[in-house]
Amino acid sequence: MVKRKLIRIDEEKCTGCGRCLPPCGDYSFSFIGAALTIINGKAKLIHDKYCNNLWTCIRECPQEAISIEERDAEEISLIIREASIANP
Ligand code: SF4
Repeated sequence: MVKRKLIRIDEEKCTGCGRCLPPCGDYSFSFIGAALTIINGKAKLIHDKYCNNLWTCIRECPQEAISIEERDAEEISLIIREASIANP
């Protein structure tokens, strides 16, 4: 575990619209899967290691339900880190 800045989703504000998912999934490659998904009508960060800190999800959220927090988390996946360097 390392300290990382990752998203935090306010479930009171989240309507489960899913607008945050495409930018996350587009970047994370279909064979890996996205860091975000919808569970019980709320967005969830399910894979810390696939979050590459681009914050594209934050810009898409119409409810301003996504913010950034620093917390202990898995290190970013090596394959995601290499892809981020290749496609800044
Ligand atoms: S875009 Fe915002 S409101 Fe919509 S599912 Fe994602 S976090 Fe929830």
